[in-house]
Amino acid sequence: MKIETATINFPCPKCNQEFPVSLFQLHEGGIITCPWCLASNVENELSGLEHNLESLGRSLQNLKRCMEKKQRTNQ
Ligand SMILES: [Zn+2]
Repeated sequence: MKIETATINFPCPKCNQEFPVSLFQLHEGGIITCPWCLASNVENELSGLEHNLESLGRSLQNLKRCMEKKQRTNQ
C-alpha cells in the first residue's frame, strides 16, 4: 500500500457519516466532498485536524524513509 493513498475516516460535520479521505488529498488542500450528503465545504472543518496532520505527515515521511531503506537492502 502506498502511503500517499492512505486514508483516514473523517466524520462529515453536516450529516455525521464517516467517509475516507486520503492523506494526500488533505496535504494538497483539495476540495473534499462528502459522498453521503455532497457537502463540499467540508475542508473548512478540517482545520482542526491540521496540527494532527502535521505530526502525522512527519511520521509518514519517517515511515517512507524506513521503507525505502528496507527496499534498498532487499535488493
Ligand atoms: Zn455529509
